[in-house]
Amino acid sequence: MPSASSYAAFDATSPLGPYALKRRDPGPNDVVINIKYCGICHTDIHFTRNDLGFSKYPLVPGHEIAGIVEAVGSDVTNCKPGDRVGVGCLVNSCRTCKNCAEDLEQYCPGMIGTYGAIDRDGTPTQGGYSTLVVVDEDFVLNIPAALPLDGAAPLLCAGITTYSPLRTWGAGPGTRVAIVGLGGLGHMGVKLAAAMGAEVTVISTSDRKREDALRMGAKHFLISKDDAAMTAAAGSFDLILNTVSAASEVNKLISLLDRDGTMVMLGVVGEPVPVAALPLIFGRRRLAGSLIGGLAETQEMLDFCGEHGITSDIEIISVDKINEAYERMLKSEVRYRFVMDLSTMPTA
Ligand code: NAP
Ligand code: ZN
Ligand code: ZN
Repeated sequence: MPSASSYAAFDATSPLGPYALKRRDPGPNDVVINIKYCGICHTDIHFTRNDLGFSKYPLVPGHEIAGIVEAVGSDVTNCKPGDRVGVGCLVNSCRTCKNCAEDLEQYCPGMIGTYGAIDRDGTPTQGGYSTLVVVDEDFVLNIPAALPLDGAAPLLCAGITTYSPLRTWGAGPGTRVAIVGLGGLGHMGVKLAAAMGAEVTVISTSDRKREDALRMGAKHFLISKDDAAMTAAAGSFDLILNTVSAASEVNKLISLLDRDGTMVMLGVVGEPVPVAALPLIFGRRRLAGSLIGGLAETQEMLDFCGEHGITSDIEIISVDKINEAYERMLKSEVRYRFVMDLSTMPTA
């Protein structure tokens, strides 16, 4: 079995630390990937801290993986050694259900997550805070030559999670899109929506990120605590992507939608969100959710980013800085995605 060095969480409260990992022996459809960079998603924090209640340890997080193909199984046709590839949040699905047939593998009841799930061989899947991964070729994506691997890594989750609802709800010229929370997901949402031609507004908790938002392509910037500005913006958006992982402000945000507008919940909120019926009824507004994106759409998003030169704004960290990075993310201090450089992995 191939060995990998990794960083893992061993329980919900201790810092992450080095962990020697065995990957499965590659089968005929498998791709062995030498991981170069892995983005740090807020979901990694939810899982390491067991926010959702089903984490199993040791747990190696990381589902924004960018690397180079080291070897391929005998039946692999979609990539070859030396190719630049990515792996996102999924590493397998049932292949037969309605969702899989419609290229919506993320909604497959048998979907296997890149970490925190049980793989076909009965072992836990482990993510990209590691030097090597073995993945079925159907779940390996091609990173366009125009994109650097480090800046492209966050596209594998933050990129597709915002791209998919923007496409589903028709963002483009003539649509007004608001992005709530300028973090990892939010900053990708701004860049993608602006590239699609939408008029973009960022709704943030403070004025600190205004210049960045405008540089990324936003036309307007709203501070959620500014009641007068929020009231003045009532009814002015067709689509809101809410990336915040806290239950605050939901009814206030719904009131910002125009008639028939939709707010899509992307942030994982542990507790129930209290929703008032009246702002939905008056305006035929909708509240929706969306989970990452399917494989075909993820490749489409990567190609779109390649054509438009879109990457994530990143801060590269060495592997041993991961616990510090988590603390800074929890304070919304990262501008705008930490990316781990796997060449700095200590050998376990
Ligand atoms: P992140 O980088 O930490 O960004 C979250 C942003 O939300 C912060 O930068 C901050 O923006 C804002 N924020 C944080 N705490 C807040 C609070 N208490 N009230 C209001 N705003 C707050 O996180 P991320 O990686 O973008 O992930 C965001 C959420 O999406 C997480 O819950 C993650 O698990 C989830 N997620 C969901 C999917 C999906 O498929 N649906 C996929 C990936 C991630 P400002 O500084 O601008 O206020
Ligand atoms: Zn993620
Ligand atoms: Zn399926």
